[in-house]
Amino acid sequence: MPELPEVEITKRKLGPLLIGKRILPARNAAHSAAGGNLGRKILGVERLGKAILIRLSGGKILAFHQRMSGKILVAEKDFDSKHVRFKYKLSSGKNLIFHDVRKFGVRWYGTAKKVLSDPYFLRLGLDPLEIDFKKFKELLGKLKGGIKAALLRQDILAGVGNIIADESLWKAKIHPQKRIENFSEADFKNLFAALRFILEKSIKLGGSTMRDWYHPDNTKGGYFAQRLIYGRANEKCKKCGKIIIRMKAAGRGTFICTKCQPFKQE
Ligand SMILES: [Zn+2]
Repeated sequence: MPELPEVEITKRKLGPLLIGKRILPARNAAHSAAGGNLGRKILGVERLGKAILIRLSGGKILAFHQRMSGKILVAEKDFDSKHVRFKYKLSSGKNLIFHDVRKFGVRWYGTAKKVLSDPYFLRLGLDPLEIDFKKFKELLGKLKGGIKAALLRQDILAGVGNIIADESLWKAKIHPQKRIENFSEADFKNLFAALRFILEKSIKLGGSTMRDWYHPDNTKGGYFAQRLIYGRANEKCKKCGKIIIRMKAAGRGTFICTKCQPFKQE
C-alpha cells in the first residue's frame, strides 16, 4: 500500500504533468464519472496524509486515496486496462487515470469544503515531515501501549504505514511492542531521527514499488530494493548479522532483529 513517500512522489511527479492543463469534457459514460469537473483548469497538486488533492478552478477538488493497489497515471490516450476506474482527458493530449486492481481506492470530487469535510481528512493527524521533535514527542508521549500501533495511527501521524514503521523502528533499535510509557528521552529522539531519515531516503529513491504502485509516469520506485528490514525474514540483519524474524505487532506482519530490537518487559 502506498505510504507517505509513495504519495509524495505521486504528488511531485503529477504537478508538472497536470498544473495549467484542463480536464476536457467527457464523451461517453465511462468518462462521465468525471462528473461536474469538466472543462476545469488544474491549479495545483497537494498531498494530505496518503491522499492526493488536485485543486481545480471554481474552488473544486478532485482527490484520490490509492489504498491497497491504486496508482495514478498520466498516460497516453490509448492506454487501456480493465483496471482503469476513472479516466479524465487532459488538454495536453494525455489522460489522467486512476488504475486500481483491488478496487479499495477512493475518489472524492466536489467543493473544497465538501471534500475536506470527509472523515478521512477531518481525522488526519500531523505530517511527520512537517513537525519538529518537540511536537513528535508531545503527540506520541500522550499515548500508551505498543509503539508500532501508535505509529500506524493516521489520526496521530498521517502517512506512516507498515514499511516505514518497521524500517524506522529497526533503525532506532526499538522493539515494535515496546510501550510508549516506558520510552526514554533517547528512545523518542532515536525514533524521530530514524523516521525522518527513512522517509527522506525513501522519497529520494522514488518510494517503494512492491507490486501495484508505480509513479504517475509508470516508472518504479527504488527504495524497496534497498529496504533495511521490511520483508527480509530469514535474511541477516544489516547491523549485527542475526537472522531477521517475522512476527505480529499491531495486528500486522512485522519484521525485527531480536538482537538489535530486544524486548524487555518493564
Ligand atoms: Zn541486528
